[in-house]
Amino acid sequence: MPDKYGIIGHPLGHTMSPTLHNWGFNALSIDAEYAPYPLEPNALPAFMDRVRSEPILGLSVTIPHKRAVMEYLDRISDRARRVGAVNTLYWEGGELCGENTDVIGLTAPLRKLPSLPETGLVLGAGGAARAAAAGLLELSIPEVLVANRTRSKADDLARDFPVRVVNWEERMDVAPGLICNTTPLGMAGPTQELSPWDADRFPEGCVAYDIVYNPLETRFLREAESTGCTVISGLEMFLHQGLAQFRLWTGREMDEHGARRLLLDALGS
Ligand code: NAP
Repeated sequence: MPDKYGIIGHPLGHTMSPTLHNWGFNALSIDAEYAPYPLEPNALPAFMDRVRSEPILGLSVTIPHKRAVMEYLDRISDRARRVGAVNTLYWEGGELCGENTDVIGLTAPLRKLPSLPETGLVLGAGGAARAAAAGLLELSIPEVLVANRTRSKADDLARDFPVRVVNWEERMDVAPGLICNTTPLGMAGPTQELSPWDADRFPEGCVAYDIVYNPLETRFLREAESTGCTVISGLEMFLHQGLAQFRLWTGREMDEHGARRLLLDALGS
């Protein structure tokens, strides 16, 4: 029987995680299978019993279980505690552990930059924004700012992280070295043609990071690139959070370039 891995979420919708991890298992001849487990919130307790009894050796966790799953774990990383969310379950020394590889995924492409900016502005204050704020602080970016359409949610975030809140209407008046979009503006669907930033307001030389990856090139990234900014696509975050999961589960490295090619193909690029 192949070792079992998978993803829980509700609604699970389309996810590229099975494509990525099954490709990795296959490439490294690991006898394992990664499956989607659509799971309604009230089914979580019974499923967590199953994780321990079968056992399931690793799980990706997505909305709405990222916080709720924490009470079923033996150990939670400091990083996941800071964010208040777990997106990865793995076993270590007989203990069921929780990590947040969204933070690892978000920081990975920033670590490749020749230098880090002095100021990073996070747009949005939802779950992904918390991972982004934690990531920018992990990178020791000296000033982290947060702007959100609903000010009170940004204030909530600022209670948990040492960040400064900027009014949504004034977000383009600050001149950050990095703008990280964690809102769904620009994502395929009704808001695809929208951008959280005006085309003529990008600070010179700034880094524009969109965590939306479908489409690969959002309006935000397109306009940033045309004014000479460095751009980072959300595919990099997705790829690197997945590579980090695979490492936790197998102790092995997935081929980064092959995995990126696979995801680009899956997105039809
Ligand atoms: P969330 O918790 O629902 O938060 C969404 C945030 O976007 C909220 O702060 C919300 O502001 C803001 N927002 C929504 N619509 C807006 C609009 N029309 N104008 C301005 N702000 C708006 O969602 P999430 O879990 O953080 O996910 C956000 C995005 O990140 C999604 O597109 C998701 O696909 C993407 N994501 C990508 C990765 C990756 O690996 N690349 C990983 C995780 C998430 P309000 O508070 O005012 O509602």
